[in-house]
Amino acid sequence: MKSGFVAIIGRPNAGKSTLLNQLIKEKLAIISNKAQTTRDRIKGVVNTPSAQIVFVDTPGIHKPKHLLGEYMTKTALSTIKDVDAVLVMIDGSEEIGRGDEFIFESIKGCKAPIIVGINKIDKLSDDEIESQKFEIKKRIEGNFTFVTLSAEYNMGIERLTGVIESFLPEGEPFYPEDMYTDYPMYKLIPEIVREKILKYTEEEIPHSVAVTIDHVERRPNGKDCYTVNIYVERQSQKGIIIGAQGKNLKQVGIEARKEI
Ligand code: GDP
Ligand code: MG
Repeated sequence: MKSGFVAIIGRPNAGKSTLLNQLIKEKLAIISNKAQTTRDRIKGVVNTPSAQIVFVDTPGIHKPKHLLGEYMTKTALSTIKDVDAVLVMIDGSEEIGRGDEFIFESIKGCKAPIIVGINKIDKLSDDEIESQKFEIKKRIEGNFTFVTLSAEYNMGIERLTGVIESFLPEGEPFYPEDMYTDYPMYKLIPEIVREKILKYTEEEIPHSVAVTIDHVERRPNGKDCYTVNIYVERQSQKGIIIGAQGKNLKQVGIEARKEI
């Protein structure tokens, strides 16, 4: 039996959270096409017949422009210090740019084996995949292994876990087999609500939305009732989130409840 921890790092929007969700087949990390939606580290546990892989999703690494960004980058970089392998997710459909270079730079000297996942290959031709590999090779120092995949369309996922497994040390599982995350419900619920808000409010609403659980009512039927609060920075953002005749907020509620 093998077991170990793997950090998933990469630029915002590379597909880290999508991959984590695909790996554990549950909606765990919130996905959004707006950058920087994952604020904390989220662990996902994958059990194969011969290994337990504990994935640690991180906020996207990017050159910090503000304090929250700085915190998120720090969280991501400190994660790679104590893992058995590092998976660098690359958005293969975008040009390799400064953002990726910043990441390659930051894993320099990292002792754990590095796997570079070229994601979104559903959008790429074989030639394009090859040229992306070429561009990446030019920029990375030291040894690493390529894996091509599509997190969204479930391509190359098994190959990826196989490669990761080969790098893990022998060891007993860290978590029971039926436990797929250490992420608690009280954190997951606000994240789900936040994701729906991001979905129903376009660019006008920046990432200045926070959601908290204010009250939990334990009901005899086993269905708990959560009261959440949505915080915004400016008064004007309130109306946007609520929408005309409360349309947006209602939709947020409907979809969030379903998912929860
Ligand atoms: P993160 O910021 O790295 O966690 O990225 P997300 O997982 O939130 O994904 C960002 C966006 O890329 C979302 O809109 C996903 O649906 C999309 N995406 C992720 N993986 C793939 C993929 O394999 N193919 C395509 N076409 N889109 C993907
Ligand atoms: Mg994410």
